[in-house]
Amino acid sequence: MEPRGLLQSDALYKYLLETSVYPREADILKELRKAIDDRPESYLSTNPDSGKFIEMVLKMLNAKKTIEVGVYTGYSLLLTAMTIPDDGKVIAIDVTKKDYDEVGRQFAKKAGVEHKIDFIKSQALPVLDDLLAKPENWGAFDFAFVDADRNNALNYHERLVKLVRVGGVIIHDNTLWGGTVAIKDRSMIKNSRLFAWEDTLHLNKALAADPLVEICQITLGDGLTICRRI
Ligand code: SAH
Repeated sequence: MEPRGLLQSDALYKYLLETSVYPREADILKELRKAIDDRPESYLSTNPDSGKFIEMVLKMLNAKKTIEVGVYTGYSLLLTAMTIPDDGKVIAIDVTKKDYDEVGRQFAKKAGVEHKIDFIKSQALPVLDDLLAKPENWGAFDFAFVDADRNNALNYHERLVKLVRVGGVIIHDNTLWGGTVAIKDRSMIKNSRLFAWEDTLHLNKALAADPLVEICQITLGDGLTICRRI
């Protein structure tokens, strides 16, 4: 297992996964994880512990219409499609469809949830703007998960607060950015975390000041910020 997450030790993370996550993770999600194990970018995939949290939020909201920004091979997308009701819909946006076509799609088909997925291959921002151009989409979504290019997360947020209904939830991934958000000195940050360090600091400040949402930031995965639309 890759040492991941922000917990005190890998052993603690392993304990959490083995005790409360893996025993309740759907077999098909396990299969998807296994299928991407040797892909060089498999670290992009949403962690199964974060997945469980997203599933719980979707269920608590009775979410039916959702938006996913950033699909990759589709772990969080498959989980979402499996959790929402049969007549639910997830609008899934990614600038590339290759990873979904190679992996996610076959699992969505096998799980019988492909009909709930509306995949849009595009930069996310124009898609969100197109949705906003139709008044019927304002406040029409129950949930959104943002896990794409960090430098646009705040732009996505500004659109999503209009698309998500009052009481609905937007979750932003990677908001603790490997713990680097607590480092003051730029030169101390490793290269792999440097590119979106400032963007993440900026996003966190903006979310904390946004009067349109209540927020709760948690140390699951790489840090998640849950925004409840008020
Ligand atoms: N939640 C996914 C992981 C997403 S990884 C999972 O569970 O597997 C981030 C994804 O964001 C990548 O697939 C990348 O292609 C996509 N992305 C990056 N920039 C984007 C943009 N401007 N618009 C839409 N998608 C983008």
